[in-house]
Amino acid sequence: MTKLFETTTAVALNHIKQQPRVLVITSCTGEKRFKPTNQLTIEDFKDAKKLSERSQLLSEFSCPAAQMYTGLQHMRAMEGVNILRSLRQPDGKRFGSYVVDVKIISAGYGLIPEDRVIVPYSVTFNSMKSNEVCSWADFLGIHEAFKQAVVGYDLVFVLLGDKYLRALNLPVETHTNQTFIFFASNKSINYIDSDKAKSEVFTLSNADASRFSCALVGLKGHLLKLIANEVRENSDLLQNLYREPEILKDVLDKQPNQLYLPLGISFSKEKKSRVKNQTKSKPKSTEEDLHRFLELRPAVNKHLQMQYFIPEWDDKVDAGYVFEQDKFSPNRNAYTDDIYAHEIYGERNYHGILVSKVVVDKRKSKKNDIEAVGGIRNFVRFPGKIMGDCGAFGYIKQEEPPYNTVEILDYYEQLGFNYGVSIDHLIVGPFAQPGVREKRYDLTLRNAEEFIRKHDSRGYTFTPIGVAQGWNPEKYADAVKALVEMGYDYIAIGGLARTPTKEILEVLQEVYPHLTPTTRLHLFGVGRIEAIPYFRHLGVTSFDSAGPLRKAWFDAVNNYHTMSGKNYAAVRIPFVDKHSQRIKHLLENGYERETLKLLEQDALFAIREYDKDKISIDDALNKLLAFDELLELPRNGKVNPAAKARRLRQHTQMYRELLEARPWQECKCKICEQIGVEAVIFRGNDRNRRRGFHNTYIFYNRLQEFLNSEN
Ligand SMILES: [Zn+2]
Repeated sequence: MTKLFETTTAVALNHIKQQPRVLVITSCTGEKRFKPTNQLTIEDFKDAKKLSERSQLLSEFSCPAAQMYTGLQHMRAMEGVNILRSLRQPDGKRFGSYVVDVKIISAGYGLIPEDRVIVPYSVTFNSMKSNEVCSWADFLGIHEAFKQAVVGYDLVFVLLGDKYLRALNLPVETHTNQTFIFFASNKSINYIDSDKAKSEVFTLSNADASRFSCALVGLKGHLLKLIANEVRENSDLLQNLYREPEILKDVLDKQPNQLYLPLGISFSKEKKSRVKNQTKSKPKSTEEDLHRFLELRPAVNKHLQMQYFIPEWDDKVDAGYVFEQDKFSPNRNAYTDDIYAHEIYGERNYHGILVSKVVVDKRKSKKNDIEAVGGIRNFVRFPGKIMGDCGAFGYIKQEEPPYNTVEILDYYEQLGFNYGVSIDHLIVGPFAQPGVREKRYDLTLRNAEEFIRKHDSRGYTFTPIGVAQGWNPEKYADAVKALVEMGYDYIAIGGLARTPTKEILEVLQEVYPHLTPTTRLHLFGVGRIEAIPYFRHLGVTSFDSAGPLRKAWFDAVNNYHTMSGKNYAAVRIPFVDKHSQRIKHLLENGYERETLKLLEQDALFAIREYDKDKISIDDALNKLLAFDELLELPRNGKVNPAAKARRLRQHTQMYRELLEARPWQECKCKICEQIGVEAVIFRGNDRNRRRGFHNTYIFYNRLQEFLNSEN
């Protein structure tokens, strides 16, 4: 009995952590695995008997739908789906196919599940006139099938082109506790209607195709894959998208593509043990797993300092922002006047800054601005070390990097970088295939060789860093060995940003015997505080990460960090006067702007009064939740009572925890000292990014605490 009771409680408590059930709706593509000359045509689909006979003839070409389509959109979408399915939930279970399902709109078969066995055909909605689309979709029963298909799913991604969207003949009946995300072109917006479900439409243009370096035809699938990769980093993302689909744009907008890259590293011998470890006691066994690395002899360079670099992505705030009135400083020019975290703190909250050339090149005037102020140091106004790299993610699709070594050497020198990274080429995802990976591997090493040779002969003054890429521990080790032999004293390892800690440690285990007592070793994009002891033990001396910063606004639950390692959820009080999706919904559903503004102001007033001990926690919570609970209001105004109650419970608990602990009053950082409770209000760039700065500060100080305790 006791055991049963415990299990039930655990399930109930875990509910918040549950992943939403996801359905992906995608379309058939012209390119197929097989193209026999006698493939099915539209005439075959019109007649069931004929269809059956003709399909028999084609049976040698039959395969499940998921494998039949080889068009870019389908391939990318399935890669995304497979990534999601490979991920694990907090309890160690895989997301699995029971959480992510795929249905495909076929212009021959209608709406079919991915495992439906089909034969090749040549029918597409794309070549039909509008009225033909409607009547053929009607014949195939697509509208009705779609209506049935979405039942029971929490989060539905719809990846359809114009004609396929029309074929759905929306709306179908949906529920207020569902969320739909559409990727669609501008002209198909009129065909989108999610009925009662919440929805977000991400419109796509040619500009997006180039921004995401993916042909328009495959972009919808590509974006799904980007999201899947982002879920790897932030396991709450699907829940967050489910609750607030409007964050989608931020998720896709804010980050360089590198963050989405899949890893193509194969660790065949590891796979088995990882699967075995998916038990509830996983954290413990993982720790034990990792512990064995500490039993290896320590790296010969372990006496070198550990340094934390933060990537530079224009993360700045208005120094003179007036929080009480939500007003910017007068006559502010965001580019020149806004300030970085290190300018607020005045003391270190990271050891260095990493500036990628692709980020510099993103805004045309940026390089000029940097030159105009006399170099990168003046531009970022930072007294510590500044590292430059090319940003290999920006040109991952190109056969060769678009830069040459001399040009990059000059660029680092002219802008005054302390460290400059050689030109590398990523070996991840589809670029880790045999045949491609060897070329990239050799190219990366050749570039490193030329880089250090010309660096020496031409007398540049910055410190050169050679990059190692690879696809298994041995290849990484060979690369590092070669770099040491070339004369590098600083080596960076790329392509591991998404790799589990244990696999990174396996790479390091192979790599570290080649290090000398003076070799510094950087890990690109890997910032994991709990892994620092292991990384240090195996010779890592620096790393870069924007994780703590970005969690402040991308993580709906754990967005305010503290020194104890405990995280809190900032209270959402969005601007009524800015046109956020949810405010728009409320206004459309008959809420008066004035009423909403009163609730907004009440909430702000309440949290500030609570901060000053002028009202009780219950009074404060009541005011906060009075506004907060509206924010979930579905489009048609009809509230699903169960969903509403659930959300209210979650938010009451999260906010009560925050208010009770008052972590902003404890925090010694300048931001919390200056703006206090404003740091835990989820509202606009000036609060959210400052909260990110605070998280960075916490990360840095926890790192320091660890490093000091070690000495
Ligand atoms: Zn703080």
